[in-house]
Amino acid sequence: MTSSDRYFTPRTLEEAAGILSQGGVTMLAGGTDLMVQTRAGRVRFQPALMNIRHIAELQGISLHDGAVRIGALATITDLLTNPILREKLPVLTEMADHFASDQIRNAGTVGGSLCNASPAGDVAPPLLVLDAQVELVSKPNGAMRMRTLPIAEFFTGPGRTRREPNELLAAVRVPMPRPAFVARFLKFGTRPALDIATIAIAIGGVKKGRALHDVRVALGAVAPVPLRAERTEAALEGRDLDVAVIEAAAAMARDEAKPISDVRATAWYRQELVHNLIKRILFNVAQG
Ligand SMILES: Cc1cc2nc3c(=O)[nH]c(=O)nc-3n(C[C@H](O)[C@H](O)[C@H](O)COP(=O)(O)OP(=O)(O)OC[C@H]3O[C@@H](n4cnc5c(N)ncnc54)[C@H](O)[C@@H]3O)c2cc1C
Repeated sequence: MTSSDRYFTPRTLEEAAGILSQGGVTMLAGGTDLMVQTRAGRVRFQPALMNIRHIAELQGISLHDGAVRIGALATITDLLTNPILREKLPVLTEMADHFASDQIRNAGTVGGSLCNASPAGDVAPPLLVLDAQVELVSKPNGAMRMRTLPIAEFFTGPGRTRREPNELLAAVRVPMPRPAFVARFLKFGTRPALDIATIAIAIGGVKKGRALHDVRVALGAVAPVPLRAERTEAALEGRDLDVAVIEAAAAMARDEAKPISDVRATAWYRQELVHNLIKRILFNVAQG
């Protein structure tokens, strides 16, 4: 099917969840993935197309109960310019600064990126180091239901997630990081910022002296899903960031990455990038 027969523009989350519960619905947010995929014939429209962009409950970035709530419709430009994120979660601002062009940043949304579930999506690695959760909303049997999932459990494969067909991703909740938490994001692409990542890395942890504690290392574009590099985290945990520790962690990350070769890079090249970029980030954190 090249287009849908019916078009919905719900104004409330409940209305959208009700439409979704009837089945056969394609959801449209910014359209920067969906329109490309449908035009290329990789995705087929369902009989109904639901534009979710007018739902106020999916918008905005706010502080609630010690967490930052990022509505699914927050655009990449919102991430880049939002003062709460700039102050509390600057790694998301940093990521947004590496993301595509102004036109794509203005249209592309956080919810769209996560539900598209590209292994090379830029939004997931920083959210992984921030231990974010996704809020999934549905309306089974006529009643609204919300469940939350750690982002680390959300992705199941390229283009696949644990979101059920009747669920809409409503928001991402990010717990407020502990004092002295530092995080960095680095992306490498053929044309930095304008290209899908050849590799994306986020690293976070609580800095005490020259060491990182509660270390989190997330890698994008090196496996079927964005992932936490747990052995690299263990190699860094609580250790002073000296040359030997940084070199050992970078070598560990290179081993943990299991990339494929594709049009953007060979697997070998991606592993070398992981090694070199991890070193660059860690030296930067050590000096910061
Ligand atoms: C030229 C270009 C450059 C790009 N550069 C980058 C880049 O640098 N980095 C990067 O990470 N990505 C990049 N992308 C990919 C894309 O822009 C992002 O993935 C974007 O965030 C997708 O958001 P969207 O709102 O446009 O999603 P859409 O295209 O509207 O939707 C994507 C998918 O998610 C589903 N969906 C959307 N919102 C929800 C929701 N709330 N709940 C459930 N399902 C939902 C849709 O049904 C669809 O299947 C680029 C794309 C283009 C065309």
